[in-house]
Amino acid sequence: MNGRAKESSDFIRSAQNRAALATSAYGAMVDSGKLANYVLLTYRCPRGCSVLHVVSTPQGVIFGWPRYKMPARATEARSNAAGRAANTEDGLRHWKRRASFADTIDRSVGVQCDHMRREVDVAEVQCELDRENYPRDVRLLS
Ligand SMILES: [Zn+2]
Repeated sequence: MNGRAKESSDFIRSAQNRAALATSAYGAMVDSGKLANYVLLTYRCPRGCSVLHVVSTPQGVIFGWPRYKMPARATEARSNAAGRAANTEDGLRHWKRRASFADTIDRSVGVQCDHMRREVDVAEVQCELDRENYPRDVRLLS
């Protein structure tokens, strides 16, 4: 294996960089307006915000979290300054979009928007995927 190939395989193996790769792929789909070509499921809050996308890519299924706002008080209660600096756009309440490969997620994922915050079990997502009929919205109850 030459140096460059080794470097890229190490890159792909690294969990942290895989998350960065997922976030970058998801971001490119959103920014180019092509997410609809790849999305399998869109989880929505009771008021209709999209809070989680389940996306099919050649590298595997990605869970993507759109950017979202959290009330400032809730942001301060649920995060620390370092987390806000790294993961928000404004250092306070506008959280950046991010994504992970589904195979790196253990049991559940947190989803949230201005209206709700909850966990979604990966098993629930698998049940929705087993029902096929994509793309489809899944409406969460609060
Ligand atoms: Zn909402």
